[in-house]
Amino acid sequence: MGSKVLPGNHPESIRLAAEIIRSGGLVAFPTETVYGLGCDAVNPEAAAKVFEAKQRPAFDPLIVHLADQSMVETVAKHIPPTAIVLMDAFWPGPLTLILPKQPGVPDLVTAGLPTVAVRVPDHPVAQALIRESGTPIAAPSANPFGYVSPTTAQHVSDGLGDRVDLILDGGPCPVGVESTIVSLTGATPQLLRPGSLSLETIQSVIGPVDRAASAVEAMHAPGQSARHYATRTPVTILSAPGAWPVFRGGERRGLLAMSEPCELAGRFHAVEVLSPSGDLREAARHLFAALRRLDASGLDRIYSEPCEETGLGRAIMDRLRRCATSL
Ligand code: AMP
Ligand code: MG
Repeated sequence: MGSKVLPGNHPESIRLAAEIIRSGGLVAFPTETVYGLGCDAVNPEAAAKVFEAKQRPAFDPLIVHLADQSMVETVAKHIPPTAIVLMDAFWPGPLTLILPKQPGVPDLVTAGLPTVAVRVPDHPVAQALIRESGTPIAAPSANPFGYVSPTTAQHVSDGLGDRVDLILDGGPCPVGVESTIVSLTGATPQLLRPGSLSLETIQSVIGPVDRAASAVEAMHAPGQSARHYATRTPVTILSAPGAWPVFRGGERRGLLAMSEPCELAGRFHAVEVLSPSGDLREAARHLFAALRRLDASGLDRIYSEPCEETGLGRAIMDRLRRCATSL
């Protein structure tokens, strides 16, 4: 099924997209992290359409996207000083903050939680759309629930087809993995989801940040559900680059390599290299598109090299592990 795609950098596209948002429809739009499936965040019927289009369970809340920091009090309240420090330092950017919600935010958007997830995306198309719509935009990633997140307009249309009223095409997402989620509703800031803003960078500004301690707490960030961001093809993460397991005969296998792999000797039917020079930013940017290409290559199994778990590497390994969790 075809879906309507317009260039995101065109004022006429933004006007039309904003009209769709205001009238309760769905617009997919680019952000610096991944493409979002957006709706008017204060319209519960519109939010219901997002859950339906994605087949997303109602216990998984949406992130509310704002054009700038001045909009935050329209959806959140009791904003602590730490939140202001983080917003000043990292917005616009890939940092989502969990704050107490305003009553006007529909329960469906927050999955019944008394808190709301907010961020200001660092992308001109996203900002233009929110501003022109004149309302905060609730948006999860624009893909069927559980599948690899979309980083191009084509990925959105492959996954959602005509279940979205309009797709704004802004080219490939420059960052490529989702935002980092930090909750500011407890005594200490808590990391609910590692993402493209590194924990180290956040801690350099506000000091210690706790990690989500248990699966129960992690349910507050349902992007944390074990199998998420997942390919249909099973994924095995190697213990180290080049540490090949004993392969099964006749298996069609693919390799997801972090940097230029050595001595492959025809072991793989398909190989994706995330960053020839081993740069984590470049690897993150290419991660989801590479997983999608491998997933579409008719393989029995995808083998993935691990990467170092510092900075962006933490988010990359988090997404790979969720992919590798068996059903
Ligand atoms: P997605 O954009 O598909 O990654 O989904 C948005 C994610 O934001 C959810 O899966 C949750 O992890 C997180 N989130 C949204 N609202 C809240 C909230 N009130 N508390 C904690 N996490 C949230
Ligand atoms: Mg998602």
